[in-house]
Amino acid sequence: MRFNQKDSLQKEISRLKASHHTIGFVPTMGALHQGHLSLVQKALQENDAVVVSIFVNPTQFDNPSDLHKYPRTLEEDIALLTSLSDQLLIFSPDANELYGKEVVSKKYRFGPMERSMEGKFRSGHFDGVGTVLNLFFRAIMPDRAYFGEKDFQQLQIVRKLVQLERLPITIVGCPITRESNGLAMSSRNRRLSAAQQEEATLIHKTLKVVRKKFDSVSIQKLRAYVKQRFAENPHLTLEYFEITPVETLQPALRKTGKKKYRAFIAAFAGEVRLIDNMALN
Ligand code: AMP
Repeated sequence: MRFNQKDSLQKEISRLKASHHTIGFVPTMGALHQGHLSLVQKALQENDAVVVSIFVNPTQFDNPSDLHKYPRTLEEDIALLTSLSDQLLIFSPDANELYGKEVVSKKYRFGPMERSMEGKFRSGHFDGVGTVLNLFFRAIMPDRAYFGEKDFQQLQIVRKLVQLERLPITIVGCPITRESNGLAMSSRNRRLSAAQQEEATLIHKTLKVVRKKFDSVSIQKLRAYVKQRFAENPHLTLEYFEITPVETLQPALRKTGKKKYRAFIAAFAGEVRLIDNMALN
């Protein structure tokens, strides 16, 4: 079933909740691929009904050209979701339907993790993400919401968001789905040429080397190695490489204690910005 209006979606959700159905929610910006579908499949397994939203959220983009060029393939997306299950509730509102008259972000205090990596390089990004998810969460009130580890920092921010907003929603993290060459699936990959899609595998290859060397090589040396590897490649420009504990997401200078670490890369292939990350221990 397809909805553009909050009211009609909410009526359907109330009906489901009245018959004690649990609700799963998968927020997306569309241009769907197998990564998105893996979240939808998990949600279908764990809930009686699943809402999938398709909405390119303007307030989380700091770059108007990136927002403008973001792929929009609504009819294809709906066909793909419908082929997966005819039970899905597909919600694709326009910006004013979701936000009301003013399409603006609320200011959140997510703590230090909002200032590293994506927060540092995309001004206002997590306020935009927090604002739109808070609107969706309050409209839908799902039991569980599903997020990919592809956007690991976002996943941790969303865990913080439900605490700050006191929302009784379980946040479920899902593993990264990759192409057979290792490239993390992303809606933005559609903007890459075939050659760029191959060149962009450097990101995943580098993360794998970092994981292999993590126990025996210092973080400083790993940083130097990654910088060098990207500097030698004419097709990709490194924006950041960081190793951080998964809890704080603050760049680590050395390994301490028994913390769990992850490595993160953001890089440009031409104009297209790609991100990826990997657990190290
Ligand atoms: P997006 O449409 O890019 O906002 O992504 C919607 C959701 O799908 C987010 O929770 C993403 O983390 C998740 N996602 C995107 N790409 C992947 C992937 N390759 N593997 C797993 N989850 C993904």
